[in-house]
Amino acid sequence: MLSIEGVSIAYEGTPAVRDVDLTVADGEVLAVLGPSGCGKSTLLRAVAGLEPALGRIAWDGRDLARTPTHRRGFALMFQDGQLFDHLTVARNVGYALRVRRLRGRRVAERVEELLDLVGLAGYGERLPGTLSGGERQRVALARSLAAQPRLLLLDEPLSALDAGLRERLAGDLRDILRRAGTTTLLVTHDHEEAFTVADRMAVMREGRVVQQGALAEVWREPVDAWTALFLGYARVLTGPAASALLAAADVTATGERVAVRRSALVADDGGPLRARVRSVRATPVQTRLVVDLEGPDSAPLGEADAVADLGRRVGPGDEVRLRVDPGRLAPLPG
Ligand code: ADP
Ligand code: MG
Repeated sequence: MLSIEGVSIAYEGTPAVRDVDLTVADGEVLAVLGPSGCGKSTLLRAVAGLEPALGRIAWDGRDLARTPTHRRGFALMFQDGQLFDHLTVARNVGYALRVRRLRGRRVAERVEELLDLVGLAGYGERLPGTLSGGERQRVALARSLAAQPRLLLLDEPLSALDAGLRERLAGDLRDILRRAGTTTLLVTHDHEEAFTVADRMAVMREGRVVQQGALAEVWREPVDAWTALFLGYARVLTGPAASALLAAADVTATGERVAVRRSALVADDGGPLRARVRSVRATPVQTRLVVDLEGPDSAPLGEADAVADLGRRVGPGDEVRLRVDPGRLAPLPG
C-alpha cells in the first residue's frame, strides 16, 4: 500500500503542500478533494516521483525517495488523457506493453481485454481524433491500466468533459477501477466525482488535509463550515435558525451551527417549521424556494433554502410549513 507521511513541498520557498499524511490501502480508491490551487497536482506529482518532497512516501513500507519515476510501477493520467494522435486506439492502449517487449497476439489480446473493460470493444482501429472527449478519456484509462500499475494516479480525469458526460463517466470509472482491482489515488475539485468514484476521501485546503475518512462519514460530519460548503452543503445556519432546525429534525447537537443541503427543508403542511416564501424558482424535478424562517410569534430566524413538489402552488409572500430531513443536515462542531 501507499503511505504518505509528513510530506511538504514548496516552490521557491512558497509552500504548496504542507505536512500531509495519507494512506491508500491495496485495491482502495482514495479521492483527494480540494479547490483549484490547493496543492493536489503537486502532491500527485511527488507520489509519481516528479517533484522532490520533504517527508516520506513509501510503498509497502519501503521508502521511494531513491526510486525514480519509471521504477515505481505507478501510472499517471491527466484530465486531457494525452493520447498519441497519430497512433490508433489499439496502438495507444498497447503502448506500454510494446515498451515491455510484449509482441503480437499477446498484445492484441490484452488490448482487446482492456478496450472491453472500458466499454470500447471494437474501437481498436480508430484514430484518437475521431473520438468524443469521453471516449478519449476511456482510451487514456485503458492505456494507463495496460501495464498493470500497482498504483494509478488520476489528476482530474473527468474535468475536461461536460457535466452530463462527467456524471455518467464517473460511474463507469468506479466500476472499471473496481473490476480491475487497481489501487488508485484520484485528485479532483469536484465533490460529486469524488463521491461517485472513491471509497475514502481526504479534503485538502491550502496545502493541508483538513479531513479524511470514509465517504459517508465525511459527508455526514464535515469538520467545519468551509468543508461543508465545499462538499456541496448549500448554507451554514447559526444561532436561533440552527437551533430551530435541529429541534425540528430531532437532532441533538452540542454546537450552534448546522450545515444544510438545499433539499433539507421540504414544504409540507404538517411540518413543524414555519416560514414565509421569499422567492421561487422551478427546476425540472422540484421547485426551489428561498424562505425566511419564523420562530414562535413570527420572530424572524433568518433565511434558508427549501424545496417543494412541482405540483404545489407556492409564490413569494406565502406562508409555508416545512419539515426537515435529518439526513440532509450536518451539525458542525464548535
Ligand atoms: P491544484 O492541482 O490543487 O490546482 P497545484 O498543485 O497545481 O494545485 O498548485 C498548488 C500551488 O503551487 C499553487 O499555488 C500553484 O500556483 C503552485 N505551483 C504549482 N506548480 C508550480 C510550479 N511548477 N512552480 C511554482 N509554483 C507552482
Ligand atoms: Mg491540479
